[in-house]
Amino acid sequence: MKCPFCRDDNDRVIDTRAVADGFAVRRRRQCDSCRRRYTTYERIDAPIKVVKKDGTREPFDRQKFKLGLEKACWKRPVGDAQIEAVILGVESDVETTFDTEVDSHYLGELAMRHLRDLDEVAYVRFASVYRQFKDVQDFVNELKPMLATPPDPDRPGGLQLPGDDEFGQPPQRFPGR
Ligand SMILES: [Zn+2]
Repeated sequence: MKCPFCRDDNDRVIDTRAVADGFAVRRRRQCDSCRRRYTTYERIDAPIKVVKKDGTREPFDRQKFKLGLEKACWKRPVGDAQIEAVILGVESDVETTFDTEVDSHYLGELAMRHLRDLDEVAYVRFASVYRQFKDVQDFVNELKPMLATPPDPDRPGGLQLPGDDEFGQPPQRFPGR
C-alpha cells in the first residue's frame, strides 16, 4: 500500500488482529521510507441494502453513514479508529442478524447503541438528529439517565448508561480505546 504520509509504496505489516467479532481484520502498517505508522481495515464487501420507511431499498452508503457519525463526534475525544470501530460494529451486527437487508430505523438504533458506549455527547447529538425529538421534553427524557449516573473517571469519553438490556446484550468493547 502507498504510505498516506510520504506516498511511497514501501510498507510492511507489523500487527494483524481480528476486530468487530472477527468480521474484520485490522492491520497496523509501517512505512519503511518515512517510518510512520498507519492502520488499514479489511472487511467483507457485503452489499447490505437499507430498507427505508417507504419500503424502497438502497445500498448501504458507508461514507454517508461515516459522515453522520463524524458530525456527531465533532470536537469530541473520539478518534478515527473509534469511528471506524463503530461502523465495523454496526456492520457486524447487521451481518450476524440479517442477511442482506436492514431496516433504516434499526440501523439508526444500532449506531446509537455503539455511540452511547463511546461518547455521551456524540450519542445525544446523533439521537437528536436521528430521532427528531418532537419537543424539549423528549430531549430531557433522553438526557435523564445520563444525568443520574455519576461520571466514571476511567471513561473520559462518556458516562455509563442503563438500558443496554433492551438490545439483548451489552455493547461490545472494541480494541484501541
Ligand atoms: Zn511513508
